[in-house]
Amino acid sequence: LQLTLAIIKPHAVKNPVALSYIRNVIKNNFVVLKTKRMILDAEAAGSFYEEHVEKFFYNRLVTFMASGSIDLHIMGHTHAVEVWRKLLGPTKVYKAQFQEPYCLRGMFGLSDTRNVAHGSDSLASAEREIKFFFPEFSLY
Ligand code: ATP
Repeated sequence: LQLTLAIIKPHAVKNPVALSYIRNVIKNNFVVLKTKRMILDAEAAGSFYEEHVEKFFYNRLVTFMASGSIDLHIMGHTHAVEVWRKLLGPTKVYKAQFQEPYCLRGMFGLSDTRNVAHGSDSLASAEREIKFFFPEFSLY
């Protein structure tokens, strides 16, 4: 079983219609091993998105991710990384709405920053990200 980490971003956690739809999509496609709701402080958000530190959107992204509760889900599927990213759709919401209107970002995305949820982009990232949020979780 392959694992991936989903992070439901603050604007989607605050929107009951989006949240219940997203939860159904997750339930219907994955085995959920762990779930946690938390609020990141700016320092933790900054360190999670460290690879983007030089990007113009970094401060905006960190402030947004620390602006409210996020939901974390460790999810299993034979192709977990790929399937979750496919369900999310393109990073950029205008592209998502244009190319794949029924993906999660197409339906509930508000902007390039507020694009509904995060998904690990590889197995190695999934492992690192799961450790970051669930240090007690054993991957093996
Ligand atoms: P994620 O890693 O969150 O699943 P991703 O791999 O699709 O997203 P990345 O390029 O890693 O996209 O960007 C990480 C996050 O930074 C995006 O999910 C989005 O919230 C934000 N972001 C990316 N590009 C932009 C942009 N051009 N303007 C504003 N925010 C952006």
